[in-house]
Amino acid sequence: NDYYLSGLSKSRTSFASKLKRLGSGFKGVDEDFLEELMIILLEADLGIETAEKIIRGVESKAIETKAKSMDEVNDILFEEMQTLYNSFEDEEFKFNEDGPTVILMVGVNGSGKTTTTAKLANKFKNEGKSVLLIAADTFRAGAVDQLKRWADRIGVDCVMGKNNADPASVIVDGCRQAKENGNDLIIADTAGRLQNKVNLMKELEKMHRVIDREIPEQPAAVWLVIDATTGQNGISQAREFTTATDVNGIILTKLDGSAKGGIVISIRNLLGLPVKYVGLGESVDDLKEFDIDSFIYSICG
Ligand code: GDP
Repeated sequence: NDYYLSGLSKSRTSFASKLKRLGSGFKGVDEDFLEELMIILLEADLGIETAEKIIRGVESKAIETKAKSMDEVNDILFEEMQTLYNSFEDEEFKFNEDGPTVILMVGVNGSGKTTTTAKLANKFKNEGKSVLLIAADTFRAGAVDQLKRWADRIGVDCVMGKNNADPASVIVDGCRQAKENGNDLIIADTAGRLQNKVNLMKELEKMHRVIDREIPEQPAAVWLVIDATTGQNGISQAREFTTATDVNGIILTKLDGSAKGGIVISIRNLLGLPVKYVGLGESVDDLKEFDIDSFIYSICG
């Protein structure tokens, strides 16, 4: 999977070369070795809690299997990351059988939410779905126009909210239009203001309520966009959203610009949510469905 590999080249160069350097002086899995490995994991942005968990796993497996080479340790390390990632149950994204399916995009400003909304619209359109975008990020200057420009370029309809309009009312307009038009999919770009937790929660609650009223049992997906370059700080911001609303998937953007791909494992460990897609560039095609095995292969291989 070359595309995946090239998009993650920064993480791969950094992570794989450090492991190689560590392995060049391999004398066994002792305390010094584990300390060095811990540093590599922290530099890859696994965060302390997650890195410690992995280190404990590597240590006990290495003892159990009497690992005698760096290759063996690498295998154990990759397996520990895979096992950790796969230890959660995920809700699958399904299309609504009657009426449009709704995806709600949430996340802080600058995370790449609007761009990702466009990328998803493009992907689903290419899969034959009729997509309607809702530009409900009415508080960030330019966000609505930005999404509209993407919509025109991709060739999908876009319902635009007026400046500072109530996002929920824009969403109502969008849902009604989608029902009228018979769209398969609605993707709503929402506001990413985080200055007030209570407001955020209320806003999101209201959006959920109006969507459920217009199209029962929706939204099917609430996807939280996280900028990979913001590291552990990005994860704590993400927590504000996961406590405010029922997020059921993560989209991790800007992994192409980051050498810290380990954040995927950290997000998984700390939030328990699946990474659905990763953003690997600024163009509309730079979105890749996430797969833990190819991901680990790409950053370690
Ligand atoms: P929003 O405020 O969350 O809606 O963020 P935008 O969608 O406007 O994105 C902010 C910036 O990040 C823009 O310059 C995007 O082109 C850029 N961006 C978004 N996703 C990616 C990505 O996956 N890779 C890179 N390199 N840039 C991205």
